Amino acid sequence: MSEQSIVLVAPELRELSGAAPEWPLGAATAFASPAEGPGVGFNTRVVAVVPLVSQAVGASELDRYPALRVVANYGVGTDNLDIASIRSRGIEVTNTPDVLTDATADLAIALLLAAARRLREGLELARSGEWDGWRPTQLLGMGLQGKVLGILGAGRIGLATARRARAFGMEIVYWDRSASSRMEVEAGATRYERLESLLGLSDIVSVHVPLTPETEGMLDATRLAAMKPGSILVNTARGAVLDQAAVAEALRSGHLGGAGLDVFENEPEIPAELRELPTCFVLPHLGSATREARQAMWELAAANARAVLSGSEPLTPVIA
Ligand code: NAP
Repeated sequence: MSEQSIVLVAPELRELSGAAPEWPLGAATAFASPAEGPGVGFNTRVVAVVPLVSQAVGASELDRYPALRVVANYGVGTDNLDIASIRSRGIEVTNTPDVLTDATADLAIALLLAAARRLREGLELARSGEWDGWRPTQLLGMGLQGKVLGILGAGRIGLATARRARAFGMEIVYWDRSASSRMEVEAGATRYERLESLLGLSDIVSVHVPLTPETEGMLDATRLAAMKPGSILVNTARGAVLDQAAVAEALRSGHLGGAGLDVFENEPEIPAELRELPTCFVLPHLGSATREARQAMWELAAANARAVLSGSEPLTPVIA
């Protein structure tokens, strides 16, 4: 009898997945990260891995699992995966688009509001016990009606964020490598082909491009200097799309009026200056953190793994 196959599931998914998810051909579940695996003697039985976006899968992990057929990422971003190495071995790659779009766009709007209305400073004042009463000019923020929101990356989350911002009376402009008719029709957005032009006229810029070699460090000191004085930067994409030190400097100098940041270059590290600056509102990567989204991400990742193991097409293959 052949040895039982194993599906390797990130241990952090145990609660969402139930103790014993069912897999084709009676494969068993092992809860372990791709870097650990089920152990020598068992690694050769691993046919699928379900990693978190914080867990790398590259050549060294792939060498350990010679029978691997699918990497079913628990997340839409795939910057944790060495896709070229995975594909070169004939292994399928999937992710979890759409099911987390609303949750992440909601959080982008939460950050946008937090930065525009100076919620961190307000919270700190309220909690300090030193608030001495209502004053007409206390902690004045930016009104959103009629302001320009610049969306970088007109994909699923960029569009969902733009549609929400329209309800606040914002005007939408966007930058993307390709035109998005949905962005133009559903959010009334205007496309800018030159990033610097969009940065110079946006009151708030929200980042929604994936982290790739092309987008890494895209918002560097020069591009941040091109942003409108007093404008606000929101990032729910990936930390390394920004030059974090340059963002801190732009906030310190007052060139940027505020920032709302959910993601950081070397998570879980959040640079001290970003944590400490009063105009910077930071969160610990909560974009998709709703019960609904995180459960749906598990269902989709598991369905992708099941499909590949059954010899069917995955529901949401990574195309690129
Ligand atoms: P998406 O639908 O693929 O949208 C990304 C958009 O960026 C697409 O329109 C894409 O254009 C564009 N783009 C890609 N590379 C570009 C480049 N070099 N220059 C200009 N535009 C480029 O992805 P999504 O579902 O909206 O997710 C976006 C990102 O959000 C994810 O990759 C992930 O990193 C992040 N995210 C974070 C959280 C969180 O918890 N904070 C949650 C979910 C997602 P094409 O259509 O031509 O590729």
